[in-house]
Amino acid sequence: MSEINVQLKNGGSAQLAAPVTVAEALKQLDRVVAKQALAARVNGAEVDLAFTLDPSGDPLNIEPVLPETREGLEVLRHSTAHLLAAAVLDLFPGTQLGIGPALLDDPRYGFFYDVIAPRPLTDADLPVIEKRMRGIAKRSLPYRREEIPKANALSIFQERAEPLKCQLIDEKGGEMVSVYYIDGSPFIDFCLGPHVPHTGKLRAFKLLSLAGAYWMGDATQPQMQRIYGTAFFSQEELDAWLKQREEAEKRDHRRLGRELDLFSIQEQYGQGLIFWHPKGGAIRKEMEDYIRGQLSERGYGLVFTPHIAKRELWFTSGHEENYASSMFSPMEFEGQEFRIKPMNCPFHIGIYKSTQRSYRDLPIRYAELGTVYRAELSGTLHGLARVRGLTQDDAHIFCTPKMVGDEILGCIDFARDMFKVFGFKDIKVELSVRGNDPEAHYDGSDEDWGRAEAALVQALNTRGIPHQRVEGEAVFYGPKIDMRVEDAIGRMWQLTTVQFDFNLPRRFQLEYIGEDNKPHQPIMIHRALFGSMERFFGVLIEHYAGAFPLWLAPVQVAVLPITDRVNEYAEKVGAELRAAGLRVELNLRSEKIGAKIRDAQLQKVPFMLVLGDREMERGEVAVRERAQGDLGVMSLEDFELKARRLVETRALTNV
Ligand SMILES: [Zn+2]
Ligand SMILES: [Zn+2]
Repeated sequence: MSEINVQLKNGGSAQLAAPVTVAEALKQLDRVVAKQALAARVNGAEVDLAFTLDPSGDPLNIEPVLPETREGLEVLRHSTAHLLAAAVLDLFPGTQLGIGPALLDDPRYGFFYDVIAPRPLTDADLPVIEKRMRGIAKRSLPYRREEIPKANALSIFQERAEPLKCQLIDEKGGEMVSVYYIDGSPFIDFCLGPHVPHTGKLRAFKLLSLAGAYWMGDATQPQMQRIYGTAFFSQEELDAWLKQREEAEKRDHRRLGRELDLFSIQEQYGQGLIFWHPKGGAIRKEMEDYIRGQLSERGYGLVFTPHIAKRELWFTSGHEENYASSMFSPMEFEGQEFRIKPMNCPFHIGIYKSTQRSYRDLPIRYAELGTVYRAELSGTLHGLARVRGLTQDDAHIFCTPKMVGDEILGCIDFARDMFKVFGFKDIKVELSVRGNDPEAHYDGSDEDWGRAEAALVQALNTRGIPHQRVEGEAVFYGPKIDMRVEDAIGRMWQLTTVQFDFNLPRRFQLEYIGEDNKPHQPIMIHRALFGSMERFFGVLIEHYAGAFPLWLAPVQVAVLPITDRVNEYAEKVGAELRAAGLRVELNLRSEKIGAKIRDAQLQKVPFMLVLGDREMERGEVAVRERAQGDLGVMSLEDFELKARRLVETRALTNV
């Protein structure tokens, strides 16, 4: 009998008699870990616990995939997606399955499965399916993997009338194909795994909603239904998440956008296109004023560029090659083809190239609130978060290699100041670099990548900002820093990106004349702080739950006369505050003062000035603040000073 040497990561080692499974080996190595493990990595490869160790690979390094880790959560959620599919097949025989991945970074969902059921599913089906999932989970049915020849797999799924799975196997399967069963259920899937050992490991899950989806995300392909759900390791975690979700629903920017009359999306004009109403427009103007003020202070030049350009440009930039599916189709005029821009970068390059540059001109920083259009599939659109027309607070920096460190530092400081102004505290930073995937193509030399990464790391270290290094997450044209912030209810939002680019300077043959009088290629940095005005606006609405700080609030002061007798005084107060630059709304309707206050409160107006005979006689105002309530009577002058000070300092609260 042969023996296998196994070594537990950060643990003991043992010599075991073959054949032996991962689960058995873990039991020998560490009983506690064996109990917790959901799956494992054997010499780096993810496998199920039922996987039989291969003695020829001896010695074997075993790393358990444990709960409360990102990998563990992925296995749990992906396995729950299978459980969902099993329940749907059980209830609706003949259902065709699409794909069912885990979602780890979507704050709304934890997994989904795409299906075509014999009849369209409705929301009323979700509790029924969830109940069946619980039934299957209770039976602790094993997830069993089989490796079978591709032809066999194809005939299994043909027999089951699952042409979509056949297509997947055809495209993605090797000679041998891995299929999974949940024994005792009608479920079979083409999948690489790994999964939890049995359905009994799945205890805390919930189905959330239904949406439309296309097979392969392609609108010309069959329409499917996407069932969303989530799963956690414990009921407590799930309950906490559901509570947060409920809070998030109350803050949903689509709902608040309607209730506060901030913006709309009009399907008859087109999906994913945002209409900013006057109140949303007032907020946007403040956001823009803030960012424009900062840009000029920080040495950026403000530029404005066209919305379309000749198609050739997009060939030069590589967008035709790498990004065409996200661009709207070309349009023709006078025998030339044009495309609407999905990004601003090539336009800023155009300005850079408009004249010869010397090292003395650098760094050059161009900033634009640039509106771009992207052909996002209708199924992926979501309020302000995912749109087809967006305005980026975009900037491109052209500099010499020597200047790069300071420029990155400048971007990071700018972003951090901006987060502070809007009241975001916790910032998480990810550094995305190349992976070792031999298939992946990356522009730029090893030296370029090394230098760029070093510059990014040094900037982060200089400011003492901890960061996580993520391999394989960089785009092909350079490494980047992503900054995520935590909002008022603990959700993380990816906003800021600072991105190196080795590609565009080469494609457009950018140059500057160096100190040596020779041409050199500048380094190009893309950076956006808000990301897009639309998405950032959506995040802000939810972060503040619609109660914007005074400087952003679309209506800053509501003037509320108690009786018609003081209407004239109210108009005078309103006029004076407007002259002081405040956004004021007068409510001169013949309503009870209680109704007027309630109305202003619902609109989340920061200050309400309640005016009666006494206030009129003394030239005073009785001040109510939306969160603090009654602040007492003060002179109009004092209130004006207070309000102006809060606006000028962009205070987050009105205390
Ligand atoms: Zn699977
Ligand atoms: Zn760019």
